[in-house]
Amino acid sequence: MTDTAKNIAILGSTGSIGRSALEVIAASEGRLCAVALTAHGNLTLLEKQARELKPRWIVATDAVAAGHDWSGLPKETQLLTGLDGLLQVVRDPQVDTVLSAIVGSAGLQGAWAALESGKTLALANKESLVVAGPLVMRLASEKGARILPVDSEHSAIFQAMQAGRREEVRRVVLTASGGPFRTLTAAQLCQVSVAEALAHPTWKMGQKVTIDSATLMNKALEIIEARWLFGLDSRQIGVAIHPQSIVHSMVEYIDGSVIAQLSPPDMRLPIQYALCWPERRPGVAAKLDWSQAMQLQFEPPDFERFGALQLGLEAAAAGGTAGAALNGANEAAVAAFLAGRLGFHEIVPACRSIIENHNFDPNPTLPQVLEVDRWAREEVSRWICA
Ligand code: NAD
Ligand code: MG
Repeated sequence: MTDTAKNIAILGSTGSIGRSALEVIAASEGRLCAVALTAHGNLTLLEKQARELKPRWIVATDAVAAGHDWSGLPKETQLLTGLDGLLQVVRDPQVDTVLSAIVGSAGLQGAWAALESGKTLALANKESLVVAGPLVMRLASEKGARILPVDSEHSAIFQAMQAGRREEVRRVVLTASGGPFRTLTAAQLCQVSVAEALAHPTWKMGQKVTIDSATLMNKALEIIEARWLFGLDSRQIGVAIHPQSIVHSMVEYIDGSVIAQLSPPDMRLPIQYALCWPERRPGVAAKLDWSQAMQLQFEPPDFERFGALQLGLEAAAAGGTAGAALNGANEAAVAAFLAGRLGFHEIVPACRSIIENHNFDPNPTLPQVLEVDRWAREEVSRWICA
């Protein structure tokens, strides 16, 4: 920890985004410092990260942490456990920026505490906004806390929005790689295995977001994320399939100009942009090679084969508890698919059934959205047994 560096707490340091963030910090020439690392699983990696970086705190959020042998921890590092430990480091005045790289709605409480204490929130955990978008945005505004997107599409939109005034934006277009099953027929989609769904063509990510990319639920969640993050009407959000994952998203202005952000698919760039903002720095992320021929393809998405997209648009338009119902159902359905209890093609119908049957509230409180999240997960188990 130094006086000049920006002090970062990484929530989910053992995950795909967390590990990439540590590479960005290592290459920052002392401008960024990881003062706190948290993880739920992979405690051996958390301990290794602690030995290498000697952060002020590490937090093991899962109860299994009690049984782990922590004798190798450096003397500079204090071990905390559970959600209380995570909230303690997020709120500590020594932390400037909180990177939320936890997967799922489990990330909401850390993001909430960061905003409550007026911290800058670098947000990879899109589920926080899907579940509680209006509440999270209101809290950020009340506390004067900034949310900087890490999701590559939202980072691209955030960057492209700087080319014009907010009232000059006509619409945004989220790009999607289309996932590993872009060209499969509906019948073939019924046969896909877990291993095939986990093999993403352009991005290397955690398991849950990889399955979400295969169903296009990831894009559905990103539609909802964009709706709240940028204060858009859901009709202003479009999707284009772009298999190369080089154009990360676009903003179309009222005069017809479209501003895009391009770079190879490498999450270290949007992570660095969020952590260093408002500065741009030379970094570790891969660069485009313009000495090579390159083709960029765009095609409209198939709403029939990938029904998740329609669900995302509907939930974004409905607002209220719709995002929490969709997200809770999806998390449980993806876990069931990974466990072999649900077919790939059943994930979206399960989510649709749960979102349509939930007790919609247009203006929920935080406890209410958490209750809908819990209910939606239970409903998936019932849907599977039915
Ligand atoms: P991951 O599964 O690789 O890592 C998740 C991290 O969260 C791990 O450190 C894990 O220990 C921790 N975690 C899991 N459950 C937890 C719980 N209940 N409480 C506290 N911590 C918990 O996931 P990832 O791919 O790094 O994705 C993280 C988030 O970033 C997701 O919301 C994802 O949608 C988003 N995102 C990821 C990518 C990517 O390239 N991986 C890109 C854009 C957005
Ligand atoms: Mg994304």
